[in-house]
Amino acid sequence: MIMFKSGDIVKVLIPNAINTGYDYRLVSAAGVGQMVRCTVMNRPYVGVICGPGDSGLPENKIKNISDVLPYSLPAADLGWISQMSAWTLMPPGAVLRLILNVPDAFTPPRTEQLYSFDFNTTARMTDNRQAVLDAFAANDNEPMSAADIQNIARVSASVVRTMIKNGTLLPTDSRPVAGGGFIHKYSDTGTVVLNDEQQAAAKQIISAIDNGGFAVYLLDGITGSGKTQVYFDAAWRAYNSGASVLLMMPEIALTAQFMTRFEQRFGAPPVVWHSNLTAARRREIWRGVLSGDIRMVVGTRSALFLPWQNLGLIVVDEEHDGSYKQEDMGNYHARDMAILRAKIAGFPVVLASATPGAETLKNVADGKYRALRLTSRYGGAMLPAIATIDIREHRPVPYRAPRADADSDGAISDVLARAIGDTLAAGQQVMLFINRRGFAPIVQCKKCGWVATCPDCSVGMTYHKRMGKLLCHMCGRTAPMVDVCPDCGGRASMRGVGIEKIQEEVMAKFPNARTAIVSSDTIASRQSLERLVAKMEGGELDIIIGTQILAKGHHFPNLTLVGVVDSDMGLFGTDFRAAEHTFQQLFQVAGRAGRGAIPGRVMLQTYQPDHPVFNAICSYDRDSFMAQDMAARRAANMPPYGQLIAIIIEGEKESVLQKYCAELAAAAPDLHGGKIMGPIAAQIYQIRNWYRMRFLIAGGETARLQPVVTRWLEKVRVPANIRVKIDVGPQNFM
Ligand code: ADP
Ligand code: ZN
Ligand code: ZN
Repeated sequence: MIMFKSGDIVKVLIPNAINTGYDYRLVSAAGVGQMVRCTVMNRPYVGVICGPGDSGLPENKIKNISDVLPYSLPAADLGWISQMSAWTLMPPGAVLRLILNVPDAFTPPRTEQLYSFDFNTTARMTDNRQAVLDAFAANDNEPMSAADIQNIARVSASVVRTMIKNGTLLPTDSRPVAGGGFIHKYSDTGTVVLNDEQQAAAKQIISAIDNGGFAVYLLDGITGSGKTQVYFDAAWRAYNSGASVLLMMPEIALTAQFMTRFEQRFGAPPVVWHSNLTAARRREIWRGVLSGDIRMVVGTRSALFLPWQNLGLIVVDEEHDGSYKQEDMGNYHARDMAILRAKIAGFPVVLASATPGAETLKNVADGKYRALRLTSRYGGAMLPAIATIDIREHRPVPYRAPRADADSDGAISDVLARAIGDTLAAGQQVMLFINRRGFAPIVQCKKCGWVATCPDCSVGMTYHKRMGKLLCHMCGRTAPMVDVCPDCGGRASMRGVGIEKIQEEVMAKFPNARTAIVSSDTIASRQSLERLVAKMEGGELDIIIGTQILAKGHHFPNLTLVGVVDSDMGLFGTDFRAAEHTFQQLFQVAGRAGRGAIPGRVMLQTYQPDHPVFNAICSYDRDSFMAQDMAARRAANMPPYGQLIAIIIEGEKESVLQKYCAELAAAAPDLHGGKIMGPIAAQIYQIRNWYRMRFLIAGGETARLQPVVTRWLEKVRVPANIRVKIDVGPQNFM
């Protein structure tokens, strides 16, 4: 480690959105990577020493460092921060902020009044109360501060006050279990014996761990093949050799079933990191990872930014999942940034998926990643038979709708209805899948064609029956339901089908079946999802109807029929990844069927049964489908055979926005072998009353587009009230 002595001028990176580091004077010795306290414009920060000072400022302009903390980021992390910054075009300080994002990590725990939930309360269980109960459950029912309850349950301060007043929340003196609650001694319980295929895969990863050095493995196994147990083997090897291990997964895959499997395998529950933890917990886990006391964490994408010491293995489960792409606070892809980190520090990464993304498949084809395949379901469970239902031939059967103004057209065809009936009669369970929230996506006047749209966004509003309101899925604004057209006085009617309407239809057609729906509106938290999952496992439900929340991770042995109501939905639109994503999603959903002793079947309702996606799914021919899709992308120079950078420019005033975009267009550089498209109106031109324009920069596989974009944007001054968002490798084209 490079050491500096007292009096030396060093560069300190500050965790904020704009900086690349400021110079300070040391008043005691410290090394590169060491955390220090200093002030910027009189505000205190904890920053990180990243090298010798280089500002050339006169001595008297340079401030002293207030305090050197006894903590460091590993040197490899500094390299990671700067390379991640160069790739994503996030300033280095913004990347550091992802790591140093636990503001009170270095202050003693505050002494706030804590509360526990009174489980004996006789008060009625409202939605708010349920949300609070779930917030406690997400933190093992440990006592919480009022601020935590508010943040995690997403309820208002007055809701919390009322619950304190009426005794649902009880003041308590007991502190949360400090640190020790999260620090476990793991062991390999030896309860799992891998089959031959699993063993072969595990052996390769383990030898990579033993040999050390960077390597990427794609654990490519069909649903139910037991990928988890294979990467558990690898995790154990790395952990047992003294390294730290990160198991990264999408939030919706952090299921109770997963936790149980982890505990069975390693003898103690995992340390779990996600966005719904109390401030105290975040602090304890963050510090535990920093000190090296916590060396194994299961978490969502933000767990990548814990202050890891001696990281020796990262597993990215469901590597193709869209949730790894962060889009609000900076734009990074957690899978790719994990690989970058492993490359710099020199350790292996395991990507696991039944439907790897095109980017990953290309890296396998190029010999950069090694594929390990699991071709059969564990324990000999059969793969489900998958078939399409041509909805043009098998029209959905109308049903009797309870609401007079809703159409009763129905969305479930006779073929699917019969299959549901047979499955229920056999005492087995059904899952229906539709990726559309609410009741009706369109509310339209039958006479003049007027459509209810959000006043702040250029999108239509969806009718949500449970809420009894119209909801904008872009900004969350609600409005009363409209019965009479404001333009012509005609009758407004509901069109299209959302998940709530499917439930209505199912209840009308199968009045004796016990049904539940699962979508992000109806499920306040992972805990409420777990309750439904437990009901499903316990046989208390016959039909579970869900959006993509249900597509992953769950293992219901008695679930033998999966029906997808509208399989075509993802195929429309202009996104070049539409076919890939539809394939992945349908394949994941299909993988829920027949995981136990009884074989399952999958029915996909579609208007275009001849689309290559359906041929591929029904014949389990992923490889030729992806090969075809990728050949088309290669011909069009689209990723993964080309690169894209999107620049979204948002402005409150249309004229200012247009002027700035025109100036940028005039200053556009000549891209040798690439092109700049735009400015054009973004697909959704208005969100929350801000107007949006877009440039798209396309270049070849090896082009270095980032520096060109940086220099280009520097040429034109950004006016007030304009936001410029750079998205390297965009996944979302709205
Ligand atoms: P995948 O993630 O590949 O879809 P899972 O890891 O969920 O598959 O495994 C499917 C089921 O098989 C799980 O219930 C899992 O516990 C079980 N299983 C897989 N491998 C083994 C093994 N070697 N020994 C015992 N059970 C296993
Ligand atoms: Zn009208
Ligand atoms: Zn809106």
